[in-house]
Parts: sequence; C-alpha cells; structure tokens
Amino acid sequence: MTRRYSSRKRILVTGGAGFLGSHLCDRLIADGHEVLCVDNFFTGDKSNIEHLAGEPRFELLRHDITFPLFVEVDEIYNLACPASPIHYQHDPVQTTKTSVHGSINMLGLAKRLKSKILQASTSEVYGDPAVHPQTEGYWGHVNPIGPRSCYDEGKRCAETLFFDYHRQHGLEIKVARIFNTYGPRMHPADGRVVSNFIVQALKGEPITLYGDGKQSRSFCYVDDLIDGLVRMMDSAAEVTGPINLGNPQEFSMAELAGQILAATGSKSKLTHAPLPEDDPRQRQPDIGKARQLLGWEPKVPLAEGIERTIAYFRGLASA
Ligand code: NAD
Ligand code: UDP
Ligand code: UDP
Repeated sequence: MTRRYSSRKRILVTGGAGFLGSHLCDRLIADGHEVLCVDNFFTGDKSNIEHLAGEPRFELLRHDITFPLFVEVDEIYNLACPASPIHYQHDPVQTTKTSVHGSINMLGLAKRLKSKILQASTSEVYGDPAVHPQTEGYWGHVNPIGPRSCYDEGKRCAETLFFDYHRQHGLEIKVARIFNTYGPRMHPADGRVVSNFIVQALKGEPITLYGDGKQSRSFCYVDDLIDGLVRMMDSAAEVTGPINLGNPQEFSMAELAGQILAATGSKSKLTHAPLPEDDPRQRQPDIGKARQLLGWEPKVPLAEGIERTIAYFRGLASA
C-alpha cells in the first residue's frame, strides 16, 4: 500500500535492524509510511532489513543513539537497546548509556520536532516480581547492583525521563512494557530461551534447562506485539502508558522445552545448568489496560508461533 502524501508519515525506528525493530519497519512500510531505520548494529543485522533495501520509502542510517541525532520525522519508536541477557551484560555501561543517554537524545529530538515518541520498555522493570500477574501499578522488585541492573535500571530510568519530558515539556509519550516476545529473526546465538531451545532441538544437542525449569514466562508472538506497538502509537494523546504488552498464557521453562521437543520431533535430551543470578521466578502480564485502551490482545497461540519460529530456524540452518 502506498499512502496519499497527506496521510503518509515519516517514522524513525531506532534499533530498526534488530528482531522487533525489523518487524516494525516491515509493518510501517506495509502501512504506506516512510521509515528511517537507525541502528549501530550491535545486536542487529543488515540481513534483517536487506529485503527493504530497494524500497524507496525505506532509509537506513548507521548511528549510535548515545550521540545526538538531527533528522526530521513525525513519529519516533525508540527500540534501540540490546535485549538478551548475554548481550546487555557484554558491555553493561554501554547498555545503561543506550537507555539513558539514548533516551535523552531521542526525547530531545522529539521535543524539537514536537513529535510523538514511544519507548520500548520491558517487563524487567518489575524485576523478580512479588505481585503476580504483573499490573502496571506494581512498582517492581529490582536489584539495583546485580548483573541485570544495567538493563533493568536503565529501562526504569528511561521511563522516568519519558514521564519527566511529558510533565516538563508537554511531550506526547507512549511507554510500552514489553513481555518476552519471540519469532523469526531472533538472533540464533543471543541466548534467549526460545531461540536456544529451538536451535538445540534442531541440532540434536542437549536442551539447556536452567535451574529446576519451574520458573515461568509468558511468550508473545512477534506479529501480535508489533500490532500492539502500532496501536499504542496511534492511541489518543492522553494514553501515555505504561501499558503492558504481552501474551498472558504462562508456561514453565520445562513445559516450553517439552513443547519444542514435540514440535521439532527432536531426540535431544534435557540437561540442567545453574539458574543465572537474579533470574525472575515468574512472569505474566496483566493486559487489562491494553485490552481496554488499545482494543488489543494477542491472537497467536504458543504452539502456532513456535511452528513459525521453527520454520525460520530450519531455513537458517539450510541457507
Ligand atoms: P535486539 O537486540 O534484536 O534489537 C535491538 C537493536 O538495537 C539492535 O538492532 C541493536 O543493534 C540496536 N542497538 C543497540 N544499542 C544501540 C545504540 N546505542 N544505538 C543504535 N542502535 C542500537 O532486541 P529486540 O528483542 O528486538 O528488542 C528491541 C527492544 O524491545 C529493546 O529496547 C528491548 O529492550 C525491548 N524489549 C524486547 C523484548 C523481547 O522479548 N524481545 C522484551 C522486552 C523489551
Ligand atoms: N538532541 C538531539 N536531536 C535533536 C535535538 C536534541 O539529539 O534534534 C539531543 C541534544 O543533543 C541534547 C538532548 O537531545 O543533548 C536533549 O535535548 P534537550 O533539548 O531536552 O536538552 P538540552 O539541549 O537543553 O540539554
Ligand atoms: N533459560 C533456560 N535455558 C536457556 C535460556 C534461558 O532455561 O537456554 C531460562 C532463563 O533462566 C529464564 C527463562 O528461560 O528463566 C527466560 O530467559 P530469557 O533469557 O529468554 O529471557 P528473560 O530471562 O530476560 O525473561
């Protein structure tokens, strides 16, 4: 679809070459907009967006958002930040800088342009939650000095900055708290559980279950999540969030391993490894606000999303 010029927007997606960012670029291009994808390729990859290279409404800029950025756009989706524990712990100072200095730069940009800005926040702001399922009103249980803190506290500070720019400068902000999301274009080596288990199952290698495997997560398929982000950006000005976006269906990691083994037909065995420090024991979004304010809820069940993700990783293996 190519929009009439009057309804076509110029949209900046930071972290646009990453897993979620590349799907968001696809969606915005399909909706007829112009997209400026900004990425420093720390965890993202050009292969995620190379199919958009010939698209005249798509532009790619290599840039690190911890440095100022002067461009002209109508809307900003701020997704830049490594998201998997092994990547965000690789250079923890840079992770905090990306969330804090990066947000200040993107908020400064939005302030100059008087444009809407959406922050990709995270369920990690709840830490190892004492409230279950997690509602947006819960302030969280986060270790400020542990190995996950660079990500958790960076994202919490980014939320503070978004709300202060809103209060102090009248900026139109949207804060989405994203829960575990999976699907094609997850990095095969980024250590996240869905990609790890699928890659291990396809290779016939042991499935690495951390701890007793009873810790839970709730997994959202990427297409559902992207639809939630776009609905949030398009919501009324008074809808600032934070709003949880995720799939409330909760599974233990042992159950997830069983599902992936069954779906791949793999003969891989389970192997146990120690639970990483500060690993949250449980996680499930309360999505009442998203339902009510965005008319949104996920549609793709885990079994179907897992099938599509397995197909993607099989394709990578044979490429
Ligand atoms: P990803 O690692 O695939 O994507 C992040 C992208 O940001 C990469 O392309 C990376 O190169 C880029 N980036 C990192 N630092 C940058 C910087 N300083 N300047 C410019 N680009 C930079 O991760 P993802 O899963 O696509 O996550 C995208 C966003 O969504 C992140 O902000 C993450 O915190 C958030 N999020 C994701 C999940 C999830 O389950 N995938 C859950 C909660 C929140
Ligand atoms: N900024 C940017 N692009 C812009 C406008 C601002 O990257 O188009 C950066 C700028 O470098 C500054 C930050 O955003 O460091 C915050 O801007 P703001 O105007 O809020 O603060 P100030 O410039 O007054 O410190
Ligand atoms: N996990 C696991 N085996 C793996 C990778 C992760 O058992 O190979 C567990 C991990 O300990 C955590 C859950 O799966 O309890 C989700 O981990 P992930 O890194 O995907 O996301 P996050 O912890 O950030 O929610």
